[in-house]
Parts: sequence; C-alpha cells; structure tokens
Amino acid sequence: MKFAFSPELEAFRQDVRRFVADTLSPATRAKVDEGRRLVKSDYVDWYRILHAKGWITPGWPVEHGGTDWSPLERYIFEEETALGGAPPVTGGINMIGPVLIAFGTPEQKAAYLPAMRRGDLWWAQGFSEPGAGSDLASLATRAVLDGDHYVVNGTKIWQTQAAYADMMFALVRTRFEGKPQEGITLLLLDMNSPGLSIQPIRTIDGGQELYQCFFDNVRVPVENRVGADGKGWTYAKYLLGFERHGIAGIGHAKRQMARIKRVAAAEHDRGTRLIDLPRWRDRIALLEIELMALECLSLRLIQESEAKGAGAGPGVEASILKIRGTELRQDMFELLTELTGPYGIPFDEEVMRDGWGNGAPVGPAHAATIASNYLDSRKISIYGGANEIQRNVLAKAILGV
Ligand SMILES: Cc1cc2nc3c(=O)[nH]c(=O)nc-3n(C[C@H](O)[C@H](O)[C@H](O)COP(=O)(O)OP(=O)(O)OC[C@H]3O[C@@H](n4cnc5c(N)ncnc54)[C@H](O)[C@@H]3O)c2cc1C
Repeated sequence: MKFAFSPELEAFRQDVRRFVADTLSPATRAKVDEGRRLVKSDYVDWYRILHAKGWITPGWPVEHGGTDWSPLERYIFEEETALGGAPPVTGGINMIGPVLIAFGTPEQKAAYLPAMRRGDLWWAQGFSEPGAGSDLASLATRAVLDGDHYVVNGTKIWQTQAAYADMMFALVRTRFEGKPQEGITLLLLDMNSPGLSIQPIRTIDGGQELYQCFFDNVRVPVENRVGADGKGWTYAKYLLGFERHGIAGIGHAKRQMARIKRVAAAEHDRGTRLIDLPRWRDRIALLEIELMALECLSLRLIQESEAKGAGAGPGVEASILKIRGTELRQDMFELLTELTGPYGIPFDEEVMRDGWGNGAPVGPAHAATIASNYLDSRKISIYGGANEIQRNVLAKAILGV
C-alpha cells in the first residue's frame, strides 16, 4: 500500500512548512528543540504572527476568522506547526471560542472573539475541582443569583497557566436538586475580580504551570453567563468535542522521534554510536512503526469524517487516538532517558527556565532537560480525559460493557 497526499495538499504542506520556518522566532524554536519551558510571550508572539496571516483560528467559522480548511488541511497544519517547533494554540481559542460562537450573545462575541484572535485575551479553564475531575458532574462550586450578579464560592483546581489568564470560563452549580448534570451553568469570570485568588501547584517536573483557584464571594454579572442557566453541561460537552481535535499529537511525536535519533547518534557505547547498535536500532524502529500505525489510523479517521461531511469530528475513536498518542509519547521520553543513561537522570529544574544558558548540570547539553521532560510527560495521559476513562468509553461503545 502506498499512501500519498494529493499534489494540492503537498503544496499546502510546503506553504505551512515555509511559513513556520520563516516567521517563528528562532529563540522559541530553540526552546522547543531543547525541551525547555515556554513562557507567555513565546505563545502570544506566535499567535500574533498566525493572526496576521489569518491562520490563528482555522476551526472557527469563516465569518469569525476561520480558514474553511478541510479536516486534512487542518491535520497538515497542526502537524507542520508542531514539527516546525511552534507553540500549540491554547489559552481558550479552541475551547471557549467555538462555544461563544455557537451559544454566546452578540455582546459576548464582540467583546471576546476579536481580542482572542489578536492574542490579547487568554482564558483559564475552570472545570475540575478537588472532588470533581473524571466525575466532573459532581462539581460543587456554587453560584447564587443576587440581583443582576451571580455570587460564586468554592474552588477549582489544575487550571493550566491561570497566572497568564485574563478571564476564566467556569462551570458552577446554580441549582442543587435533580440529576448532577442539571443545574450546572457556564460563567465567564474576570481573573481580576475581587475575591478570586490563585495559588500555584508545583509539579514533579519542577514546573509551576498549574494552579488552584479560590472564589470567595466573587460577583459575576449575569450578562457573563453563556446560554441558559442550568445548561452548562451541554455547552461543556460541546467544548470538549473541540478539545479532541489533533488529540493523537502526531506532529509532536514526530518531533520527539527526530530528537531520539539525534540523541542516539550523539551517544556512544565503547566508541560506537547507539543508533548503529542493533539493540537500540530495534527499539527506535519499533517506536517509529507504532507512530506510523497511529498516523495511518488518524488519517483514516479524518478521511471517514471528511466523507461524512463538514463538522463531523472523530467519534469514540478519538479515545483510541488519545490513549495510543499519549502512551507512545510517554514511551518516547522513556527511551530518551535510557539513551542518555546516567546523564539523563539528574534533575535540575533551573535548566528548564527561560534564559538559562549554563548548559547541563552533568554530561552533554542534549541530556540537560531529559529528566524534566520525562517527568512532565506523565501528565499527558491524565488531562483531556484520563486514559482509564477513555478505556471505559471504548468498552461501553465498542464492547457494549
Ligand atoms: C497537566 C494538567 C492540566 C490540566 N489542566 C486543567 C485545566 O486547565 N482546567 C481544568 O479544569 N482541569 C485541568 N486539569 C484537570 C484534569 O481534567 C483532571 O486531572 C482529570 O479530569 C482527572 O481528574 P482527577 O485529577 O480529579 O483524577 P480522578 O478523577 O480522581 O482520577 C484518579 C485516577 O482514577 C482513575 N479513574 C477515575 N474514575 C475512574 C473510573 N470510573 N474508572 C476507571 N478509572 C477511573 C483516573 O483515570 C485516574 O487515573 C488538568 C490536569 C492536568 C494533569
């Protein structure tokens, strides 16, 4: 079997590749190459470049700045931007953006959508709570109507980059009777509201990108409610459908594959490059085959959804992509650690920081970030729906259990 993209899609791929090579800041690309942590300006500078080109919101309807690309074009765009070392588009663009377009008031659309496209407005996602992660419907942060405001009390946890955020879209409980899914409302909160405070959570990789958020009588104007009171669960499900786009992370995996080969060519065992030793070659080849299989599956699912028509995303199969994509990337970081042997083990948080220029604490420069990257990769099978939950989804849909 020979799989090939059409000449038009290949030309599109070359356009995207050239664009990323020509416009992405070399400093940002170097950080991604070396596995260092990005800061807000790395993201926002890139978003402004994408905005100027008209490519910041490919998944939005054309009248709101979308590109009207086919699913395969979007796939190629995501792969090429990741391969080229660009930061992922995050900060709410692909989450609350589509929800506001579908369910927001004209005032909400005017207030938020243009600023999001320009890279001027960053959102935190306020869904999870200490007692409500996988079982999100049991969330308990409450909002009580008081005149023309909701008064919010409670706590949210694991908010990614809450310190960067100007606004938060949060699921809160406004009714307490009936099924847990009923009585949940989606509110838009200003992160500078009196009574809203955030506290960083330090993660095992030394990072500080996650936060717990506390709400102490935070007043939110009623006009900041999305859609109807009590219908937040419906909007959240709609939003999570968009989070699934590009879930397999093929571009990122290909980038890590290239890093594995670079490291295997630089590391030696008694004078022979590891990449030339059969036992290491086998390990690398196996991962590459797994990656090719996942890529074929992704493309097959995209073609099926293209055949079904515009807007049809992957169904329960997205769970397979999530599980395999995250396991594969975790295997890659494990192999990177093994390839660097004792040099990959020392964990020095400082090397991850912006502006660090003192090389590795011990061993070659390419080993400096590997311990931290390995530890960081443990999270990818948790967020976006933990892999155990994805397995439950598959068991229910396919095995009928
Ligand atoms: C890096 C990172 C970023 C995140 N960013 C955000 C964010 O920006 N905003 C936000 O709101 N949330 C965010 N989250 C939270 C994330 O959505 C939750 O961590 C996730 O939903 C799991 O919930 P939990 O941590 O409460 O674990 P739990 O739900 O308590 O699960 C604990 C373990 O039990 C397993 N488990 C739970 N229920 C079942 C079941 N029924 N069957 C089998 N196994 C089960 C889980 O798979 C997991 O392994 C983030 C998480 C991470 C790790």
